[in-house]
Amino acid sequence: MSHQHHDNCQKILNNLSDYIDGELDENLCQQIEAHLETCQDCRIVVNTLQKTIDIYQSDGEKTTLPQDARARLLAYLGLEVDTSRDE
Ligand SMILES: [Zn+2]
Repeated sequence: MSHQHHDNCQKILNNLSDYIDGELDENLCQQIEAHLETCQDCRIVVNTLQKTIDIYQSDGEKTTLPQDARARLLAYLGLEVDTSRDE
């Protein structure tokens, strides 16, 4: 069974690092949390990102996930911004 990501997911994913850093607008946080309630895919992404950030933190580094690492992670999860594949 194939599933597609909605525009909503893109919006969440675009704001995800700010959300996890706790730097996101309250209003957007609520939108993201509401979306996470209904979207398991995004919940998995958030969990994975948080774990990744935990690893960075335990290294004693600054907590911000590098843009590069985030992009690779999203690609790994099949959540690239440009999904032109038809799998
Ligand atoms: Zn989603």
